Amino acid sequence: MDLKSLIRDIPDFPQPGIVFRDITTLLSHPEGLRYTIDQLTEKSSSLSPDYIVGMESRGFLFGVPLAYQLGIGFVPVRKPKKLPAPVYAVEYQLEYGKDRLEMHQDAMLPGSRVLIVDDLIATGGTAQATVQLVEKAGCEVVGLAFIIELIALAGRQNLPDVPIVSLLQYE
Ligand code: 5GP
Repeated sequence: MDLKSLIRDIPDFPQPGIVFRDITTLLSHPEGLRYTIDQLTEKSSSLSPDYIVGMESRGFLFGVPLAYQLGIGFVPVRKPKKLPAPVYAVEYQLEYGKDRLEMHQDAMLPGSRVLIVDDLIATGGTAQATVQLVEKAGCEVVGLAFIIELIALAGRQNLPDVPIVSLLQYE
C-alpha cells in the first residue's frame, strides 16, 4: 500500500517555511489505518515489549492500537499538569524555549521492556525526553517506532542504540 499518498502535506503550518505532515488523512482511511498498525506490529513484535509508551497526543493514536495488537499495556506521556497521580518529569529544549513531559511514577514495573511510539520524529527531542522518562522509571527502552521520520533532521542520532522503526521517510 502507498502509505505516503495518505499523508497530507500542509505548507506553512504551524509557521511559515514549515511543511507539516498531516496524519489525519491516514487515520480516516480504513485500509491505510489497518495497514499502518499491521506494519508497526510486524516490525516491533520481535522486540517483545511489556509496554508501549506513547507521547501526547498523536503517539496515543498509534500506540494504543499497537499495544492492543501486541496484547500489552499502554502508558501515556503527557504535557504538564494533565496526569492526576505522582509523575516523573523531564524538561527538554525546543527551538525557542523549553517544554516538559510527564509520566505516572507507578505506570510500569521497574525492569519492564518498553517500546516508545510517536507519529513522527523530527529533531528527536520529544523521543529523547521520553527515553529519559522511561529510564527514570527504571525501565528499559527496547525500541522506538514512528510512522514518519524526517531524515534531514537526524533525530535518531540523539537516541539510544536500539532498533528504531519508521514506516515512511521524508528528506
Ligand atoms: P521532535 O521533538 O522530534 O523535533 O518533534 C516530534 C514531535 O513533534 C512529535 O511529537 C510530532 O507529533 C510533532 N511534529 C513535529 N512536526 C510534525 C509534522 O510535520 N507532522 C506531525 N504529524 N507531527 C509533527
